[in-house]
Amino acid sequence: MSRSEHHVVVVGGGIAGLAAAWELSGGADPDPDAPRVTVLESSRRLGGPLYSVPFAGRVVDVGPDGFLGRRPEAAELCREIGVGDRLRAIGASGASVYARGKLRALPTALLLGVPTRWWPTARSGILGPAGSLRLLVDAVVPRTDRRGPLGDRALGPLVARRLGRRVVAALVDPLVGGIHAGSVTDMSTAAVLPQLLAVPRRGSLMRALRRAATSGPEGSLPEGAGLVAPAFWSLDGGMSVLIDGLEAALGSRGVALRSGVAAEALRRDGGGDWTVTTSAGPLRADGLVLATPAPVVAQLLEPHDPDAAALERTVEYGSVAVVTLAYPDGAVSLPPGTGFLVARGTRSPLPDAGHDDLLVTAGTFLDVKWPHLRRDGTVLLRASVGRFGDRRAERLGDDELSARVAAELGAILSVTAPPSATMVTRWPAIFPQYKVGHLLRVSGIEAAVRRLPALAVAGSPYRGVGIPACVGSGRAAARDLLESLGGGLLARP
Ligand SMILES: Cc1cc2nc3c(=O)[nH]c(=O)nc-3n(C[C@H](O)[C@H](O)[C@H](O)COP(=O)(O)OP(=O)(O)OC[C@H]3O[C@@H](n4cnc5c(N)ncnc54)[C@H](O)[C@@H]3O)c2cc1C
Repeated sequence: MSRSEHHVVVVGGGIAGLAAAWELSGGADPDPDAPRVTVLESSRRLGGPLYSVPFAGRVVDVGPDGFLGRRPEAAELCREIGVGDRLRAIGASGASVYARGKLRALPTALLLGVPTRWWPTARSGILGPAGSLRLLVDAVVPRTDRRGPLGDRALGPLVARRLGRRVVAALVDPLVGGIHAGSVTDMSTAAVLPQLLAVPRRGSLMRALRRAATSGPEGSLPEGAGLVAPAFWSLDGGMSVLIDGLEAALGSRGVALRSGVAAEALRRDGGGDWTVTTSAGPLRADGLVLATPAPVVAQLLEPHDPDAAALERTVEYGSVAVVTLAYPDGAVSLPPGTGFLVARGTRSPLPDAGHDDLLVTAGTFLDVKWPHLRRDGTVLLRASVGRFGDRRAERLGDDELSARVAAELGAILSVTAPPSATMVTRWPAIFPQYKVGHLLRVSGIEAAVRRLPALAVAGSPYRGVGIPACVGSGRAAARDLLESLGGGLLARP
């Protein structure tokens, strides 16, 4: 059977599934011998959280509003599908953290929140005198790190042992926990900040990270890498430009994009083919890419490999909501930078909040961060709320949530007028939590999946939640599948 006679079904039309479909259809070079491809997406819209909507006279993102430039996969995909001219670089640098009652600029010498120099961190005032003194201990009488048998450790406790608890609460948790909407208390260091496991267990951690930054192999983060450096990209017209572009490019190659159709079960036929039971009837497939959230993969794999299904089920998810707000020009005075972060457990300064913690986990100065969104007359802010273990926002209605967020922004920033427009977007169970041992579980899933014929998995549950990582994982899954269908990329004419 030639490859073009094969039919591959991609389950899940988020960015990972669409990138897989793109690669299956030939990627940068259209492949006349490509298999027939069908993408099944249970919701009415492709793209998952990559979604842009009109708001206050522009089109704004209500899911991710940018992606890291240091990893090339997402920008490359934009160029391949013909929307590279819509890429826009981030328009400002730096950010603040709301600490000890006010916004304070993040120090420059950070590696994803972990200080690499004492003085800039101490001077920022974020840690306070006790926290700064504790940080100094690392330079003078450093503590040795103890690692568990997995070779992995929870990120928070690892950094706390060497640099103190305040560094974790005020810097590492807001930065790294924020990216994953989770907590560094039980987050896998190997999965989210492997550089930390590569440094010696003895001696100053800050000095070792500085050394790794300047002499490390390609891929180690440069000193000063923090929230906004190195560069981020967005798209003029929002992330929907990428999804719409993929939809058009895949359509022109004959890929069938079936939204509103859910995969419900997988069956192996006598001849070794797969049959996907869907909400719109059965679909035969020679190969499958599963690019759905982990609980759905678990359900689909259960009859074929209960162990892989059980491992998929261990991946828990955090929910978030995004509140976008427009203010009249001049009503908000913003500090320098692209936005701010809030440490978990920060008491709300609102007089009627009692002992409640701030709901807002981060704020973005949208039209500072992305100059293409600037318009005279309004200022755009965006606030994130909710993280794993904090479900308070889910109990509030949209109006109540917007009012609470506007009040909190008013207390954090200097705001003299209420917002002229607000919009709430909820993303339930969207962020997979990479807990200690995550990579071991992922290796187990990958090994189990390799034992199943012509099946691959892709997407955020595995080796990175960022858009570039999801694009990379979708394309890698597609290449694996092409190989197992026979021929593979290397055999292409
Ligand atoms: C608010 C927010 C902000 C973010 N910010 C950033 C950022 O700034 N930068 C960045 O790089 N990343 C960011 N991310 C993360 C990034 O957007 C996601 O990790 C990524 O989009 C996940 O892509 P995916 O394809 O793996 O999963 P998804 O997009 O979740 O795709 C899975 C798809 O499978 C579908 N599905 C589920 N069940 C079935 C079924 N039975 N049959 C068929 N289809 C099914 C779902 O409907 C979904 O569309 C953000 C995410 C959110 C929510």
